[in-house]
Amino acid sequence: MSKYEKINLTLCKLKEKLGIKENVKVRLKPFKRKIASVSLRKNTIYLNSEVIQRLTDKELEYIIAHELLHLKYGVFHTKEFENELKKLFDKNLELRILKRILKKK
Ligand SMILES: [Zn+2]
Repeated sequence: MSKYEKINLTLCKLKEKLGIKENVKVRLKPFKRKIASVSLRKNTIYLNSEVIQRLTDKELEYIIAHELLHLKYGVFHTKEFENELKKLFDKNLELRILKRILKKK
């Protein structure tokens, strides 16, 4: 399965899990400093094209879930946002992702 197929499959699964019904697009972008971002206006998630090549499936899932939760709860990391993310993933996952990415740069 290509990375792009993997991304779309993960997106579908997570949308179902999080109860997101709108159409959400994913675009790859050569960010310099960000791993990912989201446009609430365009319902689009942007992933760092270079970084995602180095992520495990679980890490990729975490990044997409994080951005999807912004579509659900808005731009801020509210209590509801954090709680839902915590329910889905191990709390140390984000830290591990950041460490790995920084190490390899
Ligand atoms: Zn965020």
